[in-house]
Order: sequence, then structure tokens, then C-alpha cells
Amino acid sequence: MIISPPELSMLPTLHQQEASLCRSIFPEGKLLLVSDDITHKILGERIISNFHAADIKYLSLQELPKANIENVIKIQENLADCVGIIAVGSGTINDLCKLAAYRADKKYVVFATAPSMNGYASANASISANGHKKSLTARPPAAIFCDLEIIAAAPKRLILAGLGDSVCRSTVQADCLLAHLLLNTPYQPQIFDILQQYEDNLFIQIEGLTTGNINAISALMGTLLASGHCMTIAGSSQPASQGEHMIAHCMEMLFTDSLPETYHGEQIGVTSLACAEIQQNILQTNSLNWQIADFPTNRFPEGLNNEFQNEYNQKTAQYGKFIRNKLRLEWENIRTKIQPHFKSPASLKEVLERANAPTNNQQIGWDSSKYKTAIELAAFTRNRFTFLDLWCGL
Ligand SMILES: [Zn+2]
Repeated sequence: MIISPPELSMLPTLHQQEASLCRSIFPEGKLLLVSDDITHKILGERIISNFHAADIKYLSLQELPKANIENVIKIQENLADCVGIIAVGSGTINDLCKLAAYRADKKYVVFATAPSMNGYASANASISANGHKKSLTARPPAAIFCDLEIIAAAPKRLILAGLGDSVCRSTVQADCLLAHLLLNTPYQPQIFDILQQYEDNLFIQIEGLTTGNINAISALMGTLLASGHCMTIAGSSQPASQGEHMIAHCMEMLFTDSLPETYHGEQIGVTSLACAEIQQNILQTNSLNWQIADFPTNRFPEGLNNEFQNEYNQKTAQYGKFIRNKLRLEWENIRTKIQPHFKSPASLKEVLERANAPTNNQQIGWDSSKYKTAIELAAFTRNRFTFLDLWCGL
């Protein structure tokens, strides 16, 4: 199935073009602009001034809105007399509008304000309901508008968060390929070929990200949009989220109350290095003694919430002896196929360091012993087979 990407306008400035860009998607009818206090000042006001007053109304979700179901409902209520949504913001605003548009069966477009995450083009929204964060089926935007001057002026931390969420292509690909070669799970090499091209273009101009260089910002935004679109093509987060995301999620699930506020991408930059380290150790081993590997079919750890037990059982039901045999017989072939796509932890660290992005748990306020626990338990939290499973089984 071919899923065409959203319309994309990425220019140094979209000033004075805002209304005509929106009208290319919504030829007529009133539109609801959704922003928060900050994004409204940055861009929302400018967009509104470009419309006739009768053609647009706006809902400001005020300061630092939460990605929760209450805000989704608020947007839906305001949407009743409108034909569609103009979202102005990044992670939270985009997630809220994506789900509200889906539930109301209306289109939405987004004016990006920061290159902070890869969810702009995806079809899922991460929303809390009753205190639990869930990835819900939603609607990808009909168009993404990127005013690069606005995006380049985003806070440095948001830009570096976007970089952090962009360094995991190699750890994700290694995990996906491992699961494919061992368990025949779906693997689309062309998706990773696309992502690698964006990554190559981004990694050669890292220094420009924090100096407002438009080409560097465009490279980062392109990488993030491609990642989101690849998730939509794959029908899941699989091409953008494997072991490194499981470690970050495990950390949040286990220690929610004691963690400082950090951006998702800051976490992923750090956990990608941990994942690459584990992958490197395993890939460098010639003769792993798979025979004695006690795959953790019955090793569900104490202290981890039982809700993960089912998730984990689904995974382990498929392997055990079968994987041990396959590893013993085919390991050389498997690692030879993975190695060309792998990037060493040292090379990923160098990329993050060139931008002065966080590279270790302390820099994002994560206690070392808690982080170690999260790395050890991450494999048990999700029905996705990764290098973390091999690492646990050794
Ligand atoms: Zn991510």
C-alpha cells in the first residue's frame, strides 16, 4: 500500500502565505486555530492576522498544556462549527489536534514551531487518559508547514531534543533486523534506506543546529518528518522505536515520581548510546555460547508490575529453544547482515557532543542505579524482540 506523505512546505519564511497555504487544503469554511500561550505569540497571531476574522477562530490552551483527553475534548467542542484545525506548535499541540481531528473526522494541518520530535507526520497520538499515557490511533496531518526561520529560533533544548530522537536509526534498524532474521518479523529495508539518507545529510551539519543555520535546521526537520512518515507507512512505531525507547519508557514507568522533567528526545539520545553499547558487545562476539543461554522464558523479574507479564509472555512464547538453535547455527550470518547498518556508540556520542547535547544519564538528571535497573528490565516491558533480549539471556 502506498501512503502518500502530507503536503509539505518547508521554506525560510512562510510570512503572508499562511492563509493561502491553509486554503490549499481547506478551500472554504471556518477554521479552528489551536495554540498555547507561547506558540500563539511566536506564530499563531501572525497566522490569524492573515485571515479574514470571520474565517478563523482560535483556542489557546494557555501555558504548557498537557497531552490529555480533557484537552482533546475541549478542541472537539470548539471544532463543531469549523471545517478543520490549524495546529500551531510541536509535540503536545500536535498530538492533541491529531486525535481531535480523528475523533471529529475532520482534517488538520500543522505549522511546526520546533524540530523537537518525530511525531508531526505520524498517525498516532500519545495522550494520557486516567493518568495512563497511551499511543492512540489518530490522523496524520493533511499538510505540514515549516517556517524555517521560526523553527531555527526555537529554544536550543528543543532543537537538541529533536537531534536526540534522530540518532536512533541505527539501534532501531539493528533491533528490527535481528528480530526479522530470528523470528521472521516484518522488516522493510527501503524504510531504513530512506532514513539513513536523511541521517547522513543531518550528521554532516550538526554544528549548524544551534547557530540557527537554516540548512542544518532543514536537515533535522526533514529527518524528523521522514521518521514520522515511515511510522505511518509501517503502520506502527517499529521503524523509530526499539530497545532505546523501551529503556526510556521503562525508566519513566518505574520511577515516574522521582524523575526531573526531560524531553523525550533528550532521553532517547542517552538511551541510544546504552543500546548501541549492548549491541556492539554482542555483535563483536564470535562465539557466544548460545547453548547455555537461559532465555528468560521463566525469568520475569520480581518487582516489575504484573501488567507487563502478559506482554512479555507473548514474546517468550515464540522463542526459547527455537532461538537458541537458530543463534547457534546462524549467528555468523545474522551478525554479518546487521553490521553494515550498525553505528558504534562512540560515533553516536561524537554526533551528540558536536551539538553539546546530553550523552549520559547524569546530564538529564537520571540517577545511575535507577538507570541501570531500567536497562536491565526494559526487555521485559514490551512485546518487541531486541538485542536487549539477547543481553538478558546471556
Ligand atoms: Zn522517539
